[in-house]
Amino acid sequence: LKKNKTNKITNAQGEKLTGIVTNIASKVCQALVGQQIVNCVVPASLLSERSSVVVGDNVQLVPVGGEQYRLTDVLPRTNVYKRGDRRSPGQEIIVAANVDCLLVVVTADYMVHQAGFIESALISAKRAGMATAIFVSKLDLVGTSAQAIIQEKLKPYQEIAEAVCVGSSLEYCEELVKSLRSKTTIVIGDRGCGKSTLIKSIVANLQGAPLGKDKLPSTHATSYYSDLVDTNLIDTPGIRDLALSNVTAEERSFAFPEITGLSAECQFRSCTHIHEAGCKVLDELRQGRLRRERYDAYQSTIEPVAKQKKVDKEPVNDVDYRHTGCQESFYCKKCGELVTPFGAGTEHRNHCPKCLASVHVDNRPGDRASLCHGLMEPVSVWVRKGGEWAVIHRCKECGELSSNRIAADDNAMLLMSLAVRPLSMPPFPLHTLASHE
Ligand SMILES: [Zn+2]
Ligand SMILES: [Zn+2]
Ligand SMILES: [Zn+2]
Repeated sequence: LKKNKTNKITNAQGEKLTGIVTNIASKVCQALVGQQIVNCVVPASLLSERSSVVVGDNVQLVPVGGEQYRLTDVLPRTNVYKRGDRRSPGQEIIVAANVDCLLVVVTADYMVHQAGFIESALISAKRAGMATAIFVSKLDLVGTSAQAIIQEKLKPYQEIAEAVCVGSSLEYCEELVKSLRSKTTIVIGDRGCGKSTLIKSIVANLQGAPLGKDKLPSTHATSYYSDLVDTNLIDTPGIRDLALSNVTAEERSFAFPEITGLSAECQFRSCTHIHEAGCKVLDELRQGRLRRERYDAYQSTIEPVAKQKKVDKEPVNDVDYRHTGCQESFYCKKCGELVTPFGAGTEHRNHCPKCLASVHVDNRPGDRASLCHGLMEPVSVWVRKGGEWAVIHRCKECGELSSNRIAADDNAMLLMSLAVRPLSMPPFPLHTLASHE
């Protein structure tokens, strides 16, 4: 895609040229000067500072003989696009400079089951003063009901984003191309989201050329595509998580408009929507009108420090219960029974053996990541492969369902009554069963 036309750069020896950085390696970079990509040495003075040269930077170069150039200056940036770093929280990484638009790509499968990436993309773009476009790829790989879910889930973004498009990755998307024309756009998405294929098809569309068969090289570094007259695309390596820190309440309400709308109806002004009575957000979550993954993504933008203050009654504890059995004793939140690890016949005592109640502390088994801490009521039992029974718990606060193995000393009478409860309350008179033959 990069032009390698050899229209020689004509300049008097020593005169500075202006170019755009398209690629960066350790001590060298490539820059687009006019229609040509040239190799430049980056001086040590610029390398010493982190992110002093990034893709998209306007730079000045001087020729140093042969086909080589040396970068002398980085011109002032109009803006920078940044993301966080999960390994060093609070740190920010500059991904590119002088960008107008962010294009975030997720697969249809992601869109159906997960949330959080698009939301943080919207926030990251807002911080950089950029517009956002959304593309949901690989729509052909999900069924019709999933496609309906996607349309529903995209609704909140229609107002916020510049363009919201869905398609199979090889299809041109006119609306998307229109929104990117004459802009410099950075494209982000997880590995395998179809980002590179999409870039290729957008480029072909802009050039009015048929889509070539050659595959784009997989992206290991941020790189710049610019033989599109005045439209530029910046491809990035797979990003799964933007790791944003210090998300403000204002940014949260921008990315989660429907939750903010509900908050206005909560009983308390400073409602955290975690455990408050009369919380409209929790109510909608219980009723299934607010999607759980959106709710979880919303809560995950709140800093752990801020969370800690609210859950002060929980002892701080570094054991990872995903891999370690829980050997602690506790008093049942419902019936007050002292529950010890003895007699459970399992390493993981999940619920009270006497009343079968539990507490909503996990998002995934053992992670202790839930902020809910609501009482989990036993609502049913089911039989796993191999005949093992498990109790279905439902959280009284947020409506979350979970399945948990029974313990050796669980109240057998209560388990039996849970198992037969639907039979004792049939939704139709039993004598009508015969007529269904
Ligand atoms: Zn609330
Ligand atoms: Zn109990
Ligand atoms: Zn809960």
